Amino acid sequence: MSPDSARPEIAPEAAPETRTNLVGLSREALTATLAELGEKPFRAKQVWHWLYHRGALDFASMTDLSKVMRAKLEEHFVVGRPGIAREQTSTDRTRKWLMQFSDGQKAETVFIPEDDRGAVCVSSQVGCTLTCRFCHTGTQRLVRNLTPAEIVGQFMVARDSYGEWPTPTDETRMLSNIVMMGMGEPLYNFENVATALKILMDGDGIAVGKRRITLSTSGVVPEIHRCGAELGVNLAVSLHAPDDDTRSMIMPINKKYPLKELMQACRDYPGASNARRITFEYVMLKGINDTAANARALIKLVKDIPCKFNLIHFNPWPGTPYECSDASTVDAFAQHLWDAGYSAPIRTPRGRDILAACGQLKTDSEKLSAKEQRLKDAAEAAKVAWAEKQAAI
Ligand code: SAH
Ligand code: SF4
Repeated sequence: MSPDSARPEIAPEAAPETRTNLVGLSREALTATLAELGEKPFRAKQVWHWLYHRGALDFASMTDLSKVMRAKLEEHFVVGRPGIAREQTSTDRTRKWLMQFSDGQKAETVFIPEDDRGAVCVSSQVGCTLTCRFCHTGTQRLVRNLTPAEIVGQFMVARDSYGEWPTPTDETRMLSNIVMMGMGEPLYNFENVATALKILMDGDGIAVGKRRITLSTSGVVPEIHRCGAELGVNLAVSLHAPDDDTRSMIMPINKKYPLKELMQACRDYPGASNARRITFEYVMLKGINDTAANARALIKLVKDIPCKFNLIHFNPWPGTPYECSDASTVDAFAQHLWDAGYSAPIRTPRGRDILAACGQLKTDSEKLSAKEQRLKDAAEAAKVAWAEKQAAI
């Protein structure tokens, strides 16, 4: 027996993917990429339609392209979606996906259904550079920005999951809205977020209109204007406090961009009007930002800005130092805002039992040894048990 034949057989490792992902290329970039292979612009239009209107998962299904062209595309490109590491559905029907990208990094995406429509909450980064004290994501340091393919891919996976291809009409779609409110600060990844949103809005494809898209920022003042001018989407600002001292304490970004500058950026937001108001998100933190005096200061702060409020229950996570204000305090706070003429609905927390509610998203993207992984799995199981117990209270 030769030494070679004595060796156990080892399956050959899959070669790393070297082909370009066509998902996530802007229309112009797709046209240019196909032109390099000698294809005319109308071919790019056909491929775009297959990718984003029909939701094709491969080139073989693009049946109005010749067999020769399909083979050529297959040789050079892939239709890439993020993988799903885990999918959970809450007792209130909220669904959460742990998406895994080609380098193994992970981020979460959530779908929040209403009766006949719903919003997909999309992540823009793995982790976050900012460290808002009440936010679970803020305890995970920034690993990296997500690419346009990974941002668009999150929505496409959600559509796969609900069988919403080809693109349904506005009236029949469940996945009707998009909120950039997942993990990360979208305005610290503006270029990729902008490319992704333009793809998501394109009328020949996924076609979610700009009025159905809301981008939430912690207040990255220099990028706010661009967001309105280049994308025209709705703006939500995580305000959470009416004065600089309190806001800087719970949101350190306020030291860089204080309230005066933030309010001016809101006043100047392109397209903001009484018909299209800016949303101020306000998380109710017991003993921190929830008094009648806080409400009065808030009303004074936002004077002259066409806006509405969204009062958010603080969603707890393991190890948090904060608690949510009592129900009567939240009601009284909302009443002050109503009395001053502002819409101020109290957002019902969704998906708490699967840690899918605002500010509860977090992933673990580090490389771990088998032992570390076992410990982490045990911690994760404890976290899920904790969330289920909290939701039952
Ligand atoms: N980074 C962006 C978007 C993601 S956070 C931003 O900060 O706006 C989405 C929303 O959830 C923000 O308004 C954020 O302040 C809020 N949030 C964070 N932690 C929360 C928690 N524990 N409970 C309730 N809302 C929270
Ligand atoms: Fe980052 Fe937004 Fe969480 Fe702040 S609230 S840490 S900006 S994700």
